[in-house]
Amino acid sequence: MAKDYYKILGVDKTATKEEIKKAYKNLAKQYHPDLNKDSSSAEKFKEINEAAAVLADDQKREQYDRFGTTAEQFRGFEGFDFSDFMSDIGGFDFDQVFESFFGGGFGRRRRRGPSRGSDLRYDIEITLEEAAKGAAKQISIPKLMKCEKCNGRGAESEKDIVSCPDCSGSGVHRREQRTPFGIFATQTTCRKCRGQGTYIKKECANCDGTGVVRKTRKLEIKIPAGAEEETNLRIAGEGEAGEKGAEPGDLYIIIHVKQHGIFERHGDDIYTKANVPFAIAVLGGEIEVPTLDGKAKLKIPPGTQSNTVFRMKGKGIPYLHGSGQGDELIEVVIEVPEKLSKRQKELLKEFEKESEHKKGFFGRIF
Ligand SMILES: [Zn+2]
Ligand SMILES: [Zn+2]
Repeated sequence: MAKDYYKILGVDKTATKEEIKKAYKNLAKQYHPDLNKDSSSAEKFKEINEAAAVLADDQKREQYDRFGTTAEQFRGFEGFDFSDFMSDIGGFDFDQVFESFFGGGFGRRRRRGPSRGSDLRYDIEITLEEAAKGAAKQISIPKLMKCEKCNGRGAESEKDIVSCPDCSGSGVHRREQRTPFGIFATQTTCRKCRGQGTYIKKECANCDGTGVVRKTRKLEIKIPAGAEEETNLRIAGEGEAGEKGAEPGDLYIIIHVKQHGIFERHGDDIYTKANVPFAIAVLGGEIEVPTLDGKAKLKIPPGTQSNTVFRMKGKGIPYLHGSGQGDELIEVVIEVPEKLSKRQKELLKEFEKESEHKKGFFGRIF
């Protein structure tokens, strides 16, 4: 976490907007560079403003709480132009400044554009075979899509989009306050055009001027070989359409892998059990085992004991990242025959007699 904004404002993580506002006011008065001549106060003042700009904005605060950072921190802080009122402390209206954090209309801010579309999440269930081999899946998602009729602009026709008459297309209203210390200017977002500078005379009937309509989008998504539970795929631009032609959000596909009837997954390896007939375990031979590619032969060496685990190299799941793949592990269980023919019984008794010579008294079974 880059900076602890809660600590900077001296408030709790659970602080309400009112508490944040109060803390901000107190600190801003204390550290305003015109009132506090300490050399570090300008830096501190900037920090307080930065913290308040984030914590006063629900969306930014949520993002900050979740990720410990905000988009502003990547771009460099630009939401608040504090040079504008450096010399105007007398008329400094803290409420006004605070409100500007919500409306974004303070200082020399750029015009507010329409907002980006929301990101979407789609959970999809796949089989272990699909996880191993990769798959193409058809999905349908209901979402906001760009209105085709107005091409997302929201107007009945091109000529219905006009410069906002209220703010002359600037998107803001500027107000100057004269104070004994100088002129203090504030800007508020134009209500008529909501800061966009343009105004639609006649709205598109198909989307009621929003530029978006709710539709079902059919998509084919590619599941990569090696996908695991909770693997997520980001499909850029397949979230909801932004209002009035703004950038769309992204679609996040969250993968869930179904339990398999035969195989258990251990990372990139798969595990299963197989029965080995008694005679093959003793004499050696081959058994048929299931794999993700169908049936395969597994060599059983003579004298194989129950619960021996055999490894079939490369029969597991491909690595999601990098080349190569896991193995298949097969634990063998020796089958003890339950129903024997007369002849089989005789042979086994014969066999046991042979063994008696070697094992002596304690080896006797029959
Ligand atoms: Zn439309
Ligand atoms: Zn306007």
